Amino acid sequence: MRIIEPHIHMIARTTADYERMARMHTVACCEPSFWAGYDRTSALAFHDYFTHITTFEPQRAAQYLIEHYAWICMNPKEADNLSLAKEVVAFIPEFLDKPNVLGIGEIGLNKNTDNEMEIFTMQVEMAVERDLPMWIHAPHLDDKLKGTRKMIDYLRGHGGVDPEKVCFDHAEEHTVGMIKDAGFWSSMTIYPITKNSPKRVVDILEVYGADRMMVDASGDWGPSDPGTLHDAVFEMRRRGYDDDTVETVFYDNPCYFLGQSPKFRPRPRKSREQAWN
Ligand SMILES: [Zn+2]
Repeated sequence: MRIIEPHIHMIARTTADYERMARMHTVACCEPSFWAGYDRTSALAFHDYFTHITTFEPQRAAQYLIEHYAWICMNPKEADNLSLAKEVVAFIPEFLDKPNVLGIGEIGLNKNTDNEMEIFTMQVEMAVERDLPMWIHAPHLDDKLKGTRKMIDYLRGHGGVDPEKVCFDHAEEHTVGMIKDAGFWSSMTIYPITKNSPKRVVDILEVYGADRMMVDASGDWGPSDPGTLHDAVFEMRRRGYDDDTVETVFYDNPCYFLGQSPKFRPRPRKSREQAWN
């Protein structure tokens, strides 16, 4: 069984995590641009960060036969500083042609401020102009519902956004329904302590169905563990799902979404129609 990790910040992880992921049959992982554990004080620091996740991480992953992909953007957690954010957005295009870059992400909202929204919409335009997929960060805290709804309303009213090319990450029970109803993809992030657990994620898959759904682990700077993705695989198997269904969720589904970028190489085992109709 092969597994794809759609959202992980490997810059924050040791090589031992690549080794573990390889042992757990992870064949590809995606690293969206985000906060680096501290607020960066200059645009050049972002330039260095984008260079890191488009050069060093793919090489490090390749030693474990894992394909490493990246998403580039000005993240919402640091976007409230408008002048800094605009400086960063100005040099994003030079990274979009890198061989491992799939699209724009993880853009979105953090505290739902007007500044965050301005930087979010600028980057949506960039993605639409270039016909690139988008990876969207939903707020983690009490503002998740409000922020998710605000972004859905904006994207639906835009006119030029193809919902099939947009994934809302960090989805939970109270947001998956509205994301799916609007035609977007959802990804659910598992954390070992707070937020989604493997059991909750499998419950959500059972309630809402698994088409246009992905699962990811929270490999970042906080309490997190790439192995939680494989705990969700185990939870599905424990509930009696056969390996074919499990691999459709954890391998084929990411292939369907990420494969909308011609740079993403893994191929699904079957067509999406075969998988979910
Ligand atoms: Zn993230």
